[in-house]
Amino acid sequence: MTMLEATPDIARKVLKPSVNPRFAPLPMPSLDYTDAVAAETAHLYERVKTVIPAIEWPVMAPYIKAINDLKKVRNAVILAHNYQTPEIYHCVADIVGDSLQLAKEATKTDADVIVQCGVHFMAETSKLLNPDKVVLIPDMRAGCSLAASITGADIRLLRERYPGVPVVTYVNTSADVKAESDMCCTSSNAVEVVESLGADTVMFLPDQYLASWVASQTKVKIISWAGACEVHERFTGAELRAYREADPTIQIIAHPECPPDVIAEADFTGSTAKMADWVKTRRPTKVLMVTECSMASNVAAEVPDVEFIRPCNLCPHMKRITLPRILDSLLYMKDEILVDPMVAAKARRAVERMVNLKS
Ligand code: SF4
Repeated sequence: MTMLEATPDIARKVLKPSVNPRFAPLPMPSLDYTDAVAAETAHLYERVKTVIPAIEWPVMAPYIKAINDLKKVRNAVILAHNYQTPEIYHCVADIVGDSLQLAKEATKTDADVIVQCGVHFMAETSKLLNPDKVVLIPDMRAGCSLAASITGADIRLLRERYPGVPVVTYVNTSADVKAESDMCCTSSNAVEVVESLGADTVMFLPDQYLASWVASQTKVKIISWAGACEVHERFTGAELRAYREADPTIQIIAHPECPPDVIAEADFTGSTAKMADWVKTRRPTKVLMVTECSMASNVAAEVPDVEFIRPCNLCPHMKRITLPRILDSLLYMKDEILVDPMVAAKARRAVERMVNLKS
């Protein structure tokens, strides 16, 4: 595997938001925790009672009710990534999953508005696949260290250095980067996408650890880039060995964005969707999920018989999305995701090629 250096991100192009009189701001609803709110949200608390303390519910429930009411008013759908907190994931989201699942589901919705509870590149991907819908992100600052590690200009330079070598980019990239790529992938389908190109060598960008994992699963020669996820690269093999020494019965499952010494310690490696399926199917007595820690809470709420050990690494970008910010997003229709139409057309091709890949 060949590795290349990351360069700093460039500023995003600023486009003018569209003005639609149908989406005028709405008044702030009451956020009191009344008996009626308690009764209306009781079934939702049942879903999360093992992971959200009862003392916190009276603060969350009024926001949850207000958001669910506003979704109907705006004809909006909420897409939430597996790393969103349980009150978002289980109580206001309509569609949940990993990047691939969200990208696919985003193409099926007939809502007028998509609120993306995730990070900026995910909202951009939804916009690429739904150019005629309004796509909102509750906090425009929700970025990603991987997406920030590479630019479209970097890819143009790489193509000069490796003429004829196809470029696969992880979906955790900006629309500018996707527009310069032959095909996108997620951690669910990375190996499949690389092999689908029928090439001897593929540039796999920008996650160096995912690239190294893909290289270990295929005969295709992989050229990688020095990007990394700031959450997954903090785990170490030594940390996992210490957990296993303390309890040899523990099952360790890791995300392929983790460094190789972490993957080497894992009993199973897979995308967030595959990790969740693995736990729900295998039902281990005790599991350590080596990924962003809200994911463990979200799966734990569904399998109360499994004990989760949580070495808690939070993604600061994902955690910018909160109930109050989702409410503001729906009330004031902000912040709208806009992508330059020329860039969008090229980027959409790379995403659609992935979405349409037969598995
Ligand atoms: S967990 Fe890592 S890859 Fe995912 S959004 Fe956060 S920084 Fe990016």
